[in-house]
Amino acid sequence: MIELTLLGGGNEVGRSAILLEANKERFLFDYGIDVQTGGPPIRPEFPLTAMFISHAHIDHSGMLPELYKRGWKGNIYGTAATQGLCKLLLEDSVKVQKKKGQIPHYQPDHIKIMNSFWKNLDYNKTVRFRNSSVRFLDAGHIPGSASPLLEAGGKRILYTGDLKFSDTRLIKGTKIWKEDIDILIMESTYHYKNHPDRKSLEDDLKELIQNTVYNNGIVLLPSFAVGRTQELLSIVHDLGFPVFLDGMGIEAAEIILNYPKFLRDPKKLRKAFGKARKIMKSRDRKEVLNNPCIVISTAGMLSGGPIGYYIKRLYQREDCAMVLTGYQVEGTVGRRVMDTGRYVNEGLDVKLSMPFHFMDFSAHCGRDGLINLVKETNPEKVFVIHGDGTPKFAEELRGMGFDAHAPANGEKIRI
Ligand SMILES: [Zn+2]
Repeated sequence: MIELTLLGGGNEVGRSAILLEANKERFLFDYGIDVQTGGPPIRPEFPLTAMFISHAHIDHSGMLPELYKRGWKGNIYGTAATQGLCKLLLEDSVKVQKKKGQIPHYQPDHIKIMNSFWKNLDYNKTVRFRNSSVRFLDAGHIPGSASPLLEAGGKRILYTGDLKFSDTRLIKGTKIWKEDIDILIMESTYHYKNHPDRKSLEDDLKELIQNTVYNNGIVLLPSFAVGRTQELLSIVHDLGFPVFLDGMGIEAAEIILNYPKFLRDPKKLRKAFGKARKIMKSRDRKEVLNNPCIVISTAGMLSGGPIGYYIKRLYQREDCAMVLTGYQVEGTVGRRVMDTGRYVNEGLDVKLSMPFHFMDFSAHCGRDGLINLVKETNPEKVFVIHGDGTPKFAEELRGMGFDAHAPANGEKIRI
């Protein structure tokens, strides 16, 4: 018998965590944090046999060190790129928790302990446990992202993590795997919509940048540190304009370049990164504003990071532009900009005269991709998690003839 318990990520995007028990072995898939509130998932009881991490984003990894703080001494399996990126993001997460006045869930020492138990696992390599085994499939989401396929209790159980099937400039999307899958635990971030074609999106972005820079303006590209910063860097490099990089995306790019096999065109990224001007000290920021240019800076949702420095100085300039390229979570500064045109942050509450745009450069697959995945793998059971409105999507899948369910946090399912 298999028991699946959803510890987090039920009808929500954030704090993904799934406990799977079979033949007296207990596995944990991901252990993330709620990015907005800093809230943890439900804590699993020990012992665990092993832990599998799909990718470095903190809604999947943000609570991992807390397992070690609580005294767990077991192995964690992830790709090498995920390990490198996790270290950066988790150390930053401690700083963010402190800055928000919260008591951090763990300390840097616990990240070190976690790393001492880390086992790098490449795609398509198998690790065997006493009664079960696991193999990672490429998930196509960010560099190093994986979908663990666990064989346990006589079933083949695939946990997708976050997924993308089409290529971006940074990485190749994954193909729907030719694997027998009995139980599919799937993300559903964009179950309600499809994304625009990436190539035409890139063209739109380039055109907007050209128009602005030729008009003596500055283009602000607020970006997530991991993935989006490096993708945008590769795209805008073609234009030949001065590019400034600011914030944690610089360190993330250095880490990502250490793992070229996870990238689509590492040479190009290396070249683009080499040519970009990196802002390493706050006093260097002043010179960025002197001439027309492109600025890629954290944070992607405008809450924190150096992007506020640039917005404060450019919000009145109609000849400049800002392009948001990622999902803007409810309650963030970026979401408010999109909904109201006002920038409210760090004591400032102003209407933006600077034009701003949203372009949907998602690192997730859209509705058609998710439905194709279910149709092509045709599993006995589908569990829909990591999305808003998962019960509705599960109902739609049932309407197509699949045994689909959207578990709630804390729900235990016997299979
Ligand atoms: Zn992700």
